[in-house]
Amino acid sequence: MQDQCQLFSMVPLLRAAEKASQQGKPAAIGAFNVNFYSQAMGILEGLRRSDAPGIIQASRGANKFQGGPEKIQGMVLQAMNDSNHTLPVALHLDHGNEEQAKVCTDEGFSSVMIDASTLEFEDNIKLTQDIVQYAHAKGLSVEGEYGKLAGVEEDVIHEATTYADPYLVPFFFNESKADALAVAYGTSHGPNKGSAGGLEKLAVHIVEQSYKGMVAYGQNNDHFLVSHGSSTVPPEIVAEINAQGGTVKGAAGIPMHKIQEAVVAGIRKINIDTDLRLGITATFRKWFNDNPGVETTSADILMPIKKALDEKLDAIDPRDYLKVIDAGLLRTDPKGTILEEVMILVQERIASHVEMLVQKFGSAGLAGTVDRVSLSEMAAIYKA
Ligand SMILES: [Zn+2]
Repeated sequence: MQDQCQLFSMVPLLRAAEKASQQGKPAAIGAFNVNFYSQAMGILEGLRRSDAPGIIQASRGANKFQGGPEKIQGMVLQAMNDSNHTLPVALHLDHGNEEQAKVCTDEGFSSVMIDASTLEFEDNIKLTQDIVQYAHAKGLSVEGEYGKLAGVEEDVIHEATTYADPYLVPFFFNESKADALAVAYGTSHGPNKGSAGGLEKLAVHIVEQSYKGMVAYGQNNDHFLVSHGSSTVPPEIVAEINAQGGTVKGAAGIPMHKIQEAVVAGIRKINIDTDLRLGITATFRKWFNDNPGVETTSADILMPIKKALDEKLDAIDPRDYLKVIDAGLLRTDPKGTILEEVMILVQERIASHVEMLVQKFGSAGLAGTVDRVSLSEMAAIYKA
């Protein structure tokens, strides 16, 4: 299976975006969080429609949800094989701690994040360095984080933003040797990014100054800036969830033109999680409303999901209502199962959203410009 579909480090993908940007076409690679098979299929379909390279990422929570990183890795490779996906894809651990970053390195991911942003600056660099040594030996790319994003990310909650100091960004890269760095510039995790889409907190000049420093030190072809918490949280999807019986309140994202501004300023990877969660939840709610009574035909699968949705009207995260069924069902092709019909709709929904996003991010059409450097070749480059 691995021979047919190869996973790449994020580096050649992000470098393709950097190259396009230098040629006057600002670009960033979309990084989409995944929890189950049909979501992965939707992301891949959206990338193919746009001829875009892409990053599929799994958080610690996703790994736990599916029973371990090796399960997620197998699921993503399965989806790539099932859809004959030949465009370059990286499989990345999102917000890893030390243990998870090492486990994912060993379990076939092609990239890991070590989020040591809660530590003091020097300790953050030191832990990032350790993971870089571990992961680079196998050719994986490593993403660090500097500054703190407001919002809820897994079990970490930050009330307010601690902005990155752009003058320390080249220093961070130089010391840690990380390939990518998430810089806190005012975006936030979760569906509630603040009034007017959190515009009052956004400081795109932090990205601009960081990138200028990287260019001055000749780092920008090997090191890349990442934007977390960047979902646009489309109000029409929130309205759709609520029209189907949901009670999602206060949701607001980052306006697309601000994200595009950040790409012009030097962002090369954009993380999208909330938007996909919203689309999945809207699809499930609508499908149950359109098919009254269908849950009784599958008491062990559809009924528990329907019940969980009815009990948590403000649900956004699909794990909240899908955790009631066996995760193994969600990890495999739903064809021929009771989930097939709704999952076809979920997959299409994700595909069209991803297709739209990568057009806006400027990475559509870039798949052919990615150097297909294998992980072992990357390992040799790092060693040299
Ligand atoms: Zn994040």
